[in-house]
Amino acid sequence: MQNNILVVNCGSSSLKFAVLANAGQLTLVEGIAERLGSDESVISIKYEGEKTQSQLIEGTHKEAVTVIKQWLDQHPDILQGLVGIGHRVVHGGETFASSIIIDEYVINGIEECAKFAPLHSPAHIKGIEVTFELFPGIPQVAVFDTSFHQSLEAEQYLYPIPMSYYRNHGFRKYGFHGTSYRYISHQLAKTSPGSEQQGVLVAHLGNGASTCAINCGQSSDTSMGITPLEGLMMGTRSGSLDPSLISFISQAENISQDAALDVLNKQSGLLGVSELSNDCRTLEEAMLSGDERAKLSLDIFASRTAKYLASTATTLDSIDHLVFTGGIGENSIYLREQICQRLKAFGIKLDNSKNQQAPRGEISNLTFEGCRTQIWVIPTNEELMIALDTISLIQK
Ligand code: ADP
Repeated sequence: MQNNILVVNCGSSSLKFAVLANAGQLTLVEGIAERLGSDESVISIKYEGEKTQSQLIEGTHKEAVTVIKQWLDQHPDILQGLVGIGHRVVHGGETFASSIIIDEYVINGIEECAKFAPLHSPAHIKGIEVTFELFPGIPQVAVFDTSFHQSLEAEQYLYPIPMSYYRNHGFRKYGFHGTSYRYISHQLAKTSPGSEQQGVLVAHLGNGASTCAINCGQSSDTSMGITPLEGLMMGTRSGSLDPSLISFISQAENISQDAALDVLNKQSGLLGVSELSNDCRTLEEAMLSGDERAKLSLDIFASRTAKYLASTATTLDSIDHLVFTGGIGENSIYLREQICQRLKAFGIKLDNSKNQQAPRGEISNLTFEGCRTQIWVIPTNEELMIALDTISLIQK
């Protein structure tokens, strides 16, 4: 039996998918449907090193899954080995502390979390319903970004606001990127046995960015909150700031408070400060050609990441490991160096030449000799984690 798993990641206007084989070790086919909901929606499929792209007519999640099913029908060797479908789900609230086989109860639970993830949850539900329809009889599993952080103590997850808001509305920190952090924790334990009994800091730095402290394999604090807006500066998100700003921006710009919040989510962060791009690579290139604003945006990013690493570390007994992951964490030599430099008071010291030479896409150790905290780059792989959870739950 091939044990192929289809991994589906439905966003509000995109749908990423992959079919993984050999316990998730091999990607047979992968692709993405983009700009769903618009007239220009396309789906691209990468198979055996070749990428094909086609236009979607209706531009719905349903049409995207239908195209994937049609493609699989034409590749019966892959389809016949399909034993499960794993869905990435952004918000599981307090209901889901681990991955779970999807049934009516789970769909209702995801629906209830929609108040905190109004763009994502409805897309997840659509994706799940369509896959049930088109792949009848194949078990489906939900893997939540929030689950890994359900181990946080109340002291970390409660906001200092009236307690009745938590009791009545569930307003608390939930945290995200949990599937990535769980994967990193497992990979680190394989690479550095014993780390599962130690204190680990992880910076997941991509377009979305957060930090996590992992104490003996469990999340003890994380920077994102009730939504992914809290914490670090990101590609287009401001991260944490004085909440009074929402009212100031709304009054000064004559826009609603919702529109002001939208600015903090979509027009701030690296893009807002640089006035150039949300993309780290573009900003590094601009910085090298002398763009001071691009440099400033990257330095603010480094500074705020270091601050959040330091604050999440207050839940650890010791900082035995610091791991960089995500597109920026895995690739940006400049930002890794700038972040570590700002953590020197904590005894964190990066080996600059190891940092420069870290090979792309591989695990590497960047620690300066004699430094107590081991500094790592570990490429994340959320799809693999989703596939492994799916296999393990459907085999039970
Ligand atoms: P997400 O999954 O949150 O959309 P990714 O983890 O793919 O984001 O990370 C995207 C970010 O990684 C972008 O800002 C991109 O510029 C950055 N990145 C990718 N490669 C490099 C590189 N070689 N140098 C610097 N930044 C990079």
